Amino acid sequence: MPVPISQMWTVASYVLKQKLSGRKRYPLVLMLEPLFRCNLTCAGCGKIQYPTDILRKNLSPEQCFHAAEECGAPMVSIPGGEPLLHPQIKEIVDGLVARKKYVYLCTNALLLKEKLDLFKPSKYLTFSVHLDGLREQHDSAVGREGAYEKAAAGIREAVNRGFRVTTNTTLFDGADAKSVRAFFDEMMGMGVEGMTLSAGYSYDKAPDQTKFLGRDKTCELFDKILSNRKKTWRFNQSALFLEFLMGKRQYKCTPWGMPTYNIFGWQKPCYLLQDGYVDTFAELIQSSEWHKCGTESGNPKCANCMVHSGYEASAVNDTFGSITGLAATLRSMLFWKHPNKAALKALDEPVERPHGELVTLTVSEQTPREEVT
Ligand code: SF4
Repeated sequence: MPVPISQMWTVASYVLKQKLSGRKRYPLVLMLEPLFRCNLTCAGCGKIQYPTDILRKNLSPEQCFHAAEECGAPMVSIPGGEPLLHPQIKEIVDGLVARKKYVYLCTNALLLKEKLDLFKPSKYLTFSVHLDGLREQHDSAVGREGAYEKAAAGIREAVNRGFRVTTNTTLFDGADAKSVRAFFDEMMGMGVEGMTLSAGYSYDKAPDQTKFLGRDKTCELFDKILSNRKKTWRFNQSALFLEFLMGKRQYKCTPWGMPTYNIFGWQKPCYLLQDGYVDTFAELIQSSEWHKCGTESGNPKCANCMVHSGYEASAVNDTFGSITGLAATLRSMLFWKHPNKAALKALDEPVERPHGELVTLTVSEQTPREEVT
């Protein structure tokens, strides 16, 4: 089971409560960014381009707690920036856990091993480690040799000490499906609880604008990766959202499902776009131009977006909002393999690596297991 039953129950009962109360737009996960500074400069990141005075700022623990209470979502994801650089990250995590929020601390894990003593294992706390593939792919994606090794050491230590650990992986143009599947094997071998996947969003501030995937290419890639699944793989994500990434179902964006709070306030309208900030969650819901959100809205900034912060809440809403959605979720979980001969064959087709070189990866080119354990 990729997510503990207690968490599933909390989320299911929360969604049902919102439905029964007739609430049209409700948050599922608070995206809490307590700082923007980071110890990496990834090419696809849209958060580290702020001037130094902004990068130096931190949200206080009180601001974080106020945002969590104001919004009321049962889960809090803490991205950034790198949250482990926040001087009061322990207080923030402890306070959210005390409020029984399911916290996903998103980290590149460069500091995880040395900071682990700050935290206590809890069903409410998960370290969500950013890894964009096997050693070669990850080090290249984050622009730092040795980043994978360090993160892997952090993962192993956290797993050994009884923490919940997941991975979060963003895939860009040129990603090799076969290598990503080998990466899944690697992660499950390390004992992570589950994996999460996302397609890279084309941030206009990202240093490298050439790596982003269009919708069709996104679906093609995820279909190759997620068809013919291995029994050992576990995903810490909605089964229907994974089918959405594979192009098997359509959803409308529900950006209010994962609202963002950071040093500027509540970000309109979503985690990715910045159409201004407001002081309260209620103002965010009332004043955002939701009709301009989503691929179907015609907003060019949304044209290629399939990101979890817009669409995973839509999938969860589908699961708990209708009998057909629930049945589809159960079917997807029961028939987890998703057999697809064409997708299997496509795994052996040549792919372009991010730097443009045309190659066919063979299993022997993938990082041997002994090198990373
Ligand atoms: S589709 Fe939704 S999540 Fe994606 S950029 Fe547009 S509003 Fe944001």
